[in-house]
Amino acid sequence: MSDQNPVFIPGPTNIPDRLRNAMQVQTRDHRAPDFVETFAPVLRDCKRVFGTETGQVIMFPSTGTGGWEATISNTLSPGDKVLIARYGMFSHRWIDLCQRHGLDVQIIECPWGNGAPADQFEAILREDNEQQIKAVLTTHNETATGVRSDIGAIRKAMDASNHPALLFVDCVSSLASMPFEMDTWGVDIAVSGSQKGFMLSTGLAILGVSQKAQAAMETAQLPRTFFDFRDMMAANSSGGFPYTPPLQLIYGLKESLKMLFEEGLDNVYARHHRLAEGVRKAVDAWGMKLCASSPELYSDTVSAIYVPEGFDSNELTEHAFNTYGVSFGIGLGEMNGKAFRIGHLGSLTDVMVLSGLATIEMAMADLNYPIELGSGVRAAQEHFRSTARYLKD
Ligand SMILES: *Cc1c(COP(=O)(O)O)cnc(C)c1O
Repeated sequence: MSDQNPVFIPGPTNIPDRLRNAMQVQTRDHRAPDFVETFAPVLRDCKRVFGTETGQVIMFPSTGTGGWEATISNTLSPGDKVLIARYGMFSHRWIDLCQRHGLDVQIIECPWGNGAPADQFEAILREDNEQQIKAVLTTHNETATGVRSDIGAIRKAMDASNHPALLFVDCVSSLASMPFEMDTWGVDIAVSGSQKGFMLSTGLAILGVSQKAQAAMETAQLPRTFFDFRDMMAANSSGGFPYTPPLQLIYGLKESLKMLFEEGLDNVYARHHRLAEGVRKAVDAWGMKLCASSPELYSDTVSAIYVPEGFDSNELTEHAFNTYGVSFGIGLGEMNGKAFRIGHLGSLTDVMVLSGLATIEMAMADLNYPIELGSGVRAAQEHFRSTARYLKD
């Protein structure tokens, strides 16, 4: 099997050679003075990606799931009430994690394919006169369904109901690929990881933490040691780490930030949007439907696509892998068997996207899907041609 083929799963994403090389470092002493020089700017520069000036970036050797755990264990106490909507596999898993930590979880059930319901949050918060709800938890980009929620609207709903709850946002599959405005949206903790928009190996949970969330960590009673913000912040303030840092990933992140800023964050977002549009044109040309229920919800990092009635999406992704050596995302949870996903985030070009579309078309044709071979590729080609930057100049 060739290792030259890109993956089209929505994370971990393809690692550019430049970042693979940046992670190839010999052991260095993390207590030596030069570690500070590397680490402090990384923490500082990450803030730009989160869109925060007043918040602080904290990272742990972990994954996004560890980031969720760090978020709640540093701000909440056993029995605290939290409000969360379930509209995909990742919001589902965050709910599960809260329940296992002994929180009182109020769940709003939403159809998969919908976004976070700001109006329902507002109605519930308005009725919470005793302010029992300590936090509202949302997933910015639901990777299972390819749905992006409007976090600014949730903040507006919270403000409209005059409720002091904290706002926690999972932005694992959106940060560094789609606009994220932590300060403007009033996000208290934003949770991300190294293996998606940052284009690195898995292994870092990267969090943006507001001042309000930092105040909550002083009174929170949930137990935590490895994930204790207080230990991490105390060590970080002198440029250090409370335990052994994952040096390779920190060097990788330093270079990743450099790449993102060289391209320009706005250009990074515009590239993701353009590539996503190409994929959506292809889906349209195949006569297939996205799980996302309306265009304003379309994710620019992942598309979840229903296969036609009578077809099994697992057979499709398996066939694409076994026959052509290319991975696509399977349908998660209730989407399993009914939908497959194309991840289009991170280090990605027109050429790569076209290769993915061509491959899944071959797999669909092999399995007698009612599509015309080349139709999706052609639709994406037309989109890329008409929006290619050098053609516009
Ligand atoms: C990838 C992802 C996660 C993190 O999962 P880990 O495997 O723990 O890194 C969390 N939330 C969303 C929305 C994701 O896409």
